[in-house]
Amino acid sequence: MIPGDGIGPELAEATRRVMDASGIAFEWEVVDAGEAMIAKHGTPLPDSVLESIKRNRVAIKGPITTPVGSGFRSVNVTLRQALGLYANLRPARSMKGLDTRYQDVDLVIVRENTEDLYAGIEHMVGRDAAESIKIITRAASERIARFAFEYAVANGRHKVTAVHKANIMKLSDGLFLESCRTIAADYEGRIEFEDRIVDNMCMQLVQKPELYDVMVLPNLYGDIVSDLCAGLVGGLGVAPGANIGTEAAVFEAVHGSAPKYAGMNRANPTALILSGALMLRHLGYPDAAERVEAALRGVVADGRHTTADMGGTAGTSQFADAIIERLAATTPAGATA
Ligand code: NAD
Repeated sequence: MIPGDGIGPELAEATRRVMDASGIAFEWEVVDAGEAMIAKHGTPLPDSVLESIKRNRVAIKGPITTPVGSGFRSVNVTLRQALGLYANLRPARSMKGLDTRYQDVDLVIVRENTEDLYAGIEHMVGRDAAESIKIITRAASERIARFAFEYAVANGRHKVTAVHKANIMKLSDGLFLESCRTIAADYEGRIEFEDRIVDNMCMQLVQKPELYDVMVLPNLYGDIVSDLCAGLVGGLGVAPGANIGTEAAVFEAVHGSAPKYAGMNRANPTALILSGALMLRHLGYPDAAERVEAALRGVVADGRHTTADMGGTAGTSQFADAIIERLAATTPAGATA
């Protein structure tokens, strides 16, 4: 577990308590990353953190602040690249009890996590111009497309939509789209495939989210469209995520460290707890994941112990307490290791 900074530590604590009440006996190894590490280790991401994740092959992480414009490179981006966590999975599902425009949204974003403009290759051209290089490769595009189709098959979904801007970026986004089409052919007759231009996709999602199912996107569009989808189901406070590679997986909320709420016992731990449920599934405990999700949904629907962003008056820890109370009623005796 990497608690992170800002609201991270309090959300991590709430999540840890809920995971411990899920019936699965966790043995937690807690390691720190972020700006506070620089004084001691000279880097916001000490090697010991990467080693811990490589050894355990799974981690859950609170958000980490990234200074804007200058300073160190995002720990989040570095982690994903250093560990080869090529797939960013971000489900967005409506929850009863939340005041949202739509009631039955059930979307899954599959975002390529390693390249695109996030490769971080930037330079100044003279003093008054800057250039960012967008990298799209066939290998990474086919790999993420296959992940999206495999996810669709494994989770009983029916359609994958590739999202791009290939009408303008004919080479880079063109290659992404072509790669998706290549992979889609392997699933013909099993999983439907279509593509949308990203601007049109945003409008369609806002107007008719029910038309879509699993979406696969390059890194930058994936980041932006997943926040849009989070907005459809109740905001950043409820949007979970997973970064998955062949050797390791790191589970984290879509939201950031919201520094203005740090230490106030006010932030919503839903996104990180749902990320914990994704982790339980990844670890092979779908029943425990189901129990956690059901308990959380129950507390949200009931509405008496929700946090301020959900319209309630409970703090982070009281919300977690209410989930744990519900879990106690459904968790079988004798935890599994
Ligand atoms: P943010 O997600 O931290 O916060 C935006 C707003 O959303 C907050 O002001 C708050 O109103 C709301 N919000 C977010 N999470 C919430 C929660 N759990 N409960 C209640 N309200 C919540 O985005 P930002 O302000 O753009 O970024 C702050 C810092 O976080 C930046 O340094 C950014 O780089 C970093 N960040 C980290 C990650 C990560 O660790 N994976 C992801 C995104 C941003």
